[in-house]
Amino acid sequence: MSTTNTYSFFESVEKSFDKAAKFTKWDKGLLEQIKACNSVYSMNFPVKMDDGRIEVIEAFRVQHSQHKTPCKGGIRFSEFVNDDEVKALASLMTYKCAIVNVPFGGAKGGIKINPRNHSAYELEKITRRYTAELVRKNFIGPGIDVPAPDYGTGEREMAWIVDTYQSLNPGNIDAAGCVTGKPISQGGVHGRKEATGLGVFYGTREVCNMPDIMKKLGLALGIEGKRVVVQGMGNVGYHCSKFFREHGAKVIAIAEFEGAVFNENGLNEEDIFQHRKRTGSILNFAGATNIENSSSALELECDILVPAALENVINGVNAPNIKAKIIAEAANGPLTPEADEYFVENGVLVIPDMYLNAGGVTVSYFEWLKNLSHMRFGRMEKRFQENMNKHILNQIESTSGKKVGERDKDFILHGADEIDLVYSGLEETMISATKEIMDIWKDNPQIPDMRTAAYVNAINKVALSYIELGIFP
Ligand code: GLU
Repeated sequence: MSTTNTYSFFESVEKSFDKAAKFTKWDKGLLEQIKACNSVYSMNFPVKMDDGRIEVIEAFRVQHSQHKTPCKGGIRFSEFVNDDEVKALASLMTYKCAIVNVPFGGAKGGIKINPRNHSAYELEKITRRYTAELVRKNFIGPGIDVPAPDYGTGEREMAWIVDTYQSLNPGNIDAAGCVTGKPISQGGVHGRKEATGLGVFYGTREVCNMPDIMKKLGLALGIEGKRVVVQGMGNVGYHCSKFFREHGAKVIAIAEFEGAVFNENGLNEEDIFQHRKRTGSILNFAGATNIENSSSALELECDILVPAALENVINGVNAPNIKAKIIAEAANGPLTPEADEYFVENGVLVIPDMYLNAGGVTVSYFEWLKNLSHMRFGRMEKRFQENMNKHILNQIESTSGKKVGERDKDFILHGADEIDLVYSGLEETMISATKEIMDIWKDNPQIPDMRTAAYVNAINKVALSYIELGIFP
């Protein structure tokens, strides 16, 4: 993290909020309430490590807003976790949920550990104890606050959380909805794992399909052929690389802590992932050139730069070196306010995090609905739809006298599975969110950038909820 940053992460979020608030009509008090973090729970608890040592673990859960409940947001495991960071991330969750019309307030959790320094057994003990602390203070539950994966956590940790919660709440029929991002066998939904990366792809594709925006940037219409640089090979970076590649973009460089690899003809994320798993480093991948200094990969000539790791990676110092025309914020808060200002002044389009990476929480919403309905998506309608399609096809074939080819037939007859419905719901969500933000931006030419337009949209929705709640007349 750079020492050149003037603002803390939470201050950066507040600054973006204030910038956007000027374009709304709301009373100062209401705006202050929307901006403030409602509940901050900071805790310390002891855990006995494998060698018998007791370690005191520092952890947080912040509920930024209860204008809609439950609150929602991931839990991160990182040695850089602190209350400012968790507050910033919780605030972003509120705005994110509002933008994609997901009926939750924002929250976030963090445990200050480096997961690489702990055994699986230690991580399990830490996660279970953290969950118990949340239960004790009423900070978790399907109608209260629903955690999810974030940086350093995944399905395994979510399975420990749901198991601990269920043990402490016997007989609660909705208990599986206390956390999302679970393995399928524990009540997860198909498509949650890739959801954030897929949402980043859908959102970026929508923007690349807008003729006026592409013309302004001097780029060709559409995602095909775009040269993309991705920073981070975690769950989000891996999946957005995959979807960009599968839809005809070229991922020319992938960066990680230890360095980056480059190939002008495009890289395959799965090969790189396997290579890194095997050798412990992204470097020395056959068929790619090494870039030893990871941060210089951000400065490569490309169309789209996707920071998909942590906050504050692009600041006032390296922003002038960035050559991308579009910055697609897959991570939360990858740009400092100084970098943001530089890009507005220099005509670089920043697609903001709180909209672009909202795919994760959108599919979390679907998972939560699945848990509350106690039924997988598609169970009721799949066969009905297939029978209906068969009937229609038979009618067409008999009236036209022509037979439909086998491949087309399979496609037409297929009734929707859970994964089809989840992808369709996510695509629809990202397309309508893009449209809402772009309409606000177009209707008010004073709004300087897409981030501010996204904040205006979020602030307006949260303000209306507060008014509907009767808190502000
Ligand atoms: N941690 C993810 C985010 O920052 C997902 C949150 C969720 O699914 O609740 O958006």
